[in-house]
Amino acid sequence: MPKYYITTFGCQMNVHDSEIIAGMLETMGYQKAEAQECADLVILNTCCVRENAENRTLGHIGNLKSLKEQNPDMLIALCGCMAQEEGIVEKIRENYPHVDLVFGTHNLHQLPELIHKVTTTGSRVMEVWDSEGEIYEGLPVKRDETYRAWVTIMYGCNNFCTYCIVPYVRGRERSRRPEVILDEIRGLIANGVKEVTLLGQNVNSYGKDLEDGWNFARLLREVAETGLYRIRFQTSHPKDLSDELIEVIASHPNVGRHLHLPFQAGSSRILQRMNRQYTKEGYIDLALKIKAKVPDIALTTDIIVGFPGETEEDFLDTMNLVEKVRFDGAFTFIYSPRVGTPAAKMEDQIPEEVKKERLMRLIDLQNRISLERNQALIGTIQEILVEGASEKNESRWSGRTSHNKLVHFEPVIKVNPGDIAQVRICGAKTFTLDGELLG
Ligand code: SF4
Repeated sequence: MPKYYITTFGCQMNVHDSEIIAGMLETMGYQKAEAQECADLVILNTCCVRENAENRTLGHIGNLKSLKEQNPDMLIALCGCMAQEEGIVEKIRENYPHVDLVFGTHNLHQLPELIHKVTTTGSRVMEVWDSEGEIYEGLPVKRDETYRAWVTIMYGCNNFCTYCIVPYVRGRERSRRPEVILDEIRGLIANGVKEVTLLGQNVNSYGKDLEDGWNFARLLREVAETGLYRIRFQTSHPKDLSDELIEVIASHPNVGRHLHLPFQAGSSRILQRMNRQYTKEGYIDLALKIKAKVPDIALTTDIIVGFPGETEEDFLDTMNLVEKVRFDGAFTFIYSPRVGTPAAKMEDQIPEEVKKERLMRLIDLQNRISLERNQALIGTIQEILVEGASEKNESRWSGRTSHNKLVHFEPVIKVNPGDIAQVRICGAKTFTLDGELLG
């Protein structure tokens, strides 16, 4: 049987696309290879959100040249967001002759016929659709985990934040039909899945393109009422987060007590330049309202430091917002320009050393708050979904709470990945908790 090996870069949307690619390949008779050296087909599913991710991918493609020299029958394919980016197909065609196939995010479903085209003609195939087209349902999915799953509920983004390339490579918002999503989830439950994460670039605008009054709050309620043990979702744009959604989270304990709500910058002036469509005050009000309605919620966020034109005063607004909201965690990024976005053309770019210095101050502040939030859980009993043994130390296992906090514990009684267990929290670090497994 021919073997495949997929390397995935970027976000969970890409991870799930790779599961669909694996599903199509296994339906075609391929088997997963242990390592890319043993594969007949190597696929790179790429990300282009940050320039350095793209450079790393190009380096990876370059490294595959020697593998192809050792095994000229090996097929090398590139797909994902980078393939949709202007100029990339030409770059691959001219500079990476060992790449046999390029396809995009909009024509993923064509993979079997594209592989057939490459193998029967012996020619390179570069086929990337410019626009999104319809949603293709019913594609096979090969999931590695049996107890949790990703389910995409919508594709694309309509927001055009000025730093972001996603709307240019993933197209306009398109929602999957709710009955198709619910059927998929019922099938997952029947197969033993306990946790589903609903995915979309902005799940809060789910249903805006459907005609029959569906919105994300309604979908989440219906998913929660399937009886699934735990539901998560990402990502949420603050401008579209409704009171109805907060109500659904509050009234359904199986909706994870964790909300990832990127704020990106604390200065209303910078938020306007980012085209985020909310203000600092609006975000703080929303975060405090969520905390009031769902008191045990863990809030996490994304923050960009050093956006063009960011003054020290603007940065202090970011620090102030972090102090006020007290996030459980934050992904912090130094702004890096992406060619093709409006922010990359803004003149007042911030020097690298200023960005780095601000980032360090922000990380120090957030780490202190994250540690304090974790320390507050010491002595409490938490229910976790067991994930398995640590790769580095098999005697340490881990699992996640409803708040999406990772708890390490000694498996003093037998547990398996996917089990639900109780732990008493006995220690806290900045990013993880330590727990004692209860019998
Ligand atoms: S909401 Fe903004 S940051 Fe998120 S994917 Fe859309 S454009 Fe990018």
